[in-house]
Amino acid sequence: MSPSLASQDPLHSALLERIEACYRQAEKTLNRHFPRPAVSLRMRGQSAGAAHLQENRLRFNPVLLAENPDAFLTEVVPHEVAHLLVWHCYGKVAPHGPQWQAMMRQVFGLEPRTRHRFDVASVAPKTFAYRCQCRDHQLTVRRHNKVQRQQTRYLCRACGAALQLSE
Ligand SMILES: [Zn+2]
Ligand SMILES: [Zn+2]
Repeated sequence: MSPSLASQDPLHSALLERIEACYRQAEKTLNRHFPRPAVSLRMRGQSAGAAHLQENRLRFNPVLLAENPDAFLTEVVPHEVAHLLVWHCYGKVAPHGPQWQAMMRQVFGLEPRTRHRFDVASVAPKTFAYRCQCRDHQLTVRRHNKVQRQQTRYLCRACGAALQLSE
């Protein structure tokens, strides 16, 4: 059930256009042809994107794309495309090594940054604050739901008291 990239969603179209623009820029600068990658939006969590080198495939996070469209298209897309370009030009090298950094600077005119600066609050794993008699605990959503459904109790290893949801 992956979102179709041929959809009418303007952000998905913008993503595909930006990828193609990155490839055109690379082909012009490096004077060689690069096979276009398969693209999917099946990425979750706090990562913005990933490049699968052997498969010539790019994967992007649709939540972070929707929340940060400008930064995403400006930085994340060339970052991941550069990984595939480096793979085609040099084979297996360090992921963010000198070849990748040069690709970012010379082909895309970008500072080679390895981490995006998005606010990931909306995709961060959510936890719930609980207390025993001695300290605070963080329970995952899954554990919190179990407690709320009275399927289980969690005991503090230090004081032995059952954890209670904090106010
Ligand atoms: Zn990277
Ligand atoms: Zn305790």
